[in-house]
Amino acid sequence: MFADVPRPAIVQSPIPFPRKRKAEMRRYAERHYGIDTYELIAPKVIVEHVTVTSTFSATFNTFAPDVADSELHELPGTCSHYVIDIDGTIHQLVPLSIMCRHTVGLNDTAIGIEHVGRSDGQVMSDRRQLLASLRLTRWLQAKFGIARKDVIGHAESLSSPYHHENVKSLRNQTHGDMSHTTMTRYRKRL
Ligand SMILES: [Zn+2]
Repeated sequence: MFADVPRPAIVQSPIPFPRKRKAEMRRYAERHYGIDTYELIAPKVIVEHVTVTSTFSATFNTFAPDVADSELHELPGTCSHYVIDIDGTIHQLVPLSIMCRHTVGLNDTAIGIEHVGRSDGQVMSDRRQLLASLRLTRWLQAKFGIARKDVIGHAESLSSPYHHENVKSLRNQTHGDMSHTTMTRYRKRL
């Protein structure tokens, strides 16, 4: 399904993920997905995001502390496996073997990629950032056999066939970053 895809250069910028955070991730997975693990096993989806920040350090500083998020007030703190800076530097914050809270309804099966920026348009018009993003996404697709249709924007989360959520009040929760229109353009480039 995939030809050999080279691994892009990735800078390791790990956030702390000690036992306490893993235990909270396990409890989150129990509550939301009914599974007893913090591990991300055989991911089927890649979710693309926009940070709505201007710098990598602001994003890192949002994800590093293990504090309840301001929107859903849950633990562990939110995070993303990768963050791509505006100069195209790919940072890995969390190992792919661990779940991250980045997309309600999909955290048990999705790899999260954040793009530093204020809007979809900014990401799509930043050539270096976009090329790095496409390279990383293609490599992850090849590594895990993830289909192009399962490379989605956060704003498309509710229509993913993998979306499921046990907490009723969150079943329709999503965000507006990386819209369907943006992702139609993005997927054509993969
Ligand atoms: Zn998002």
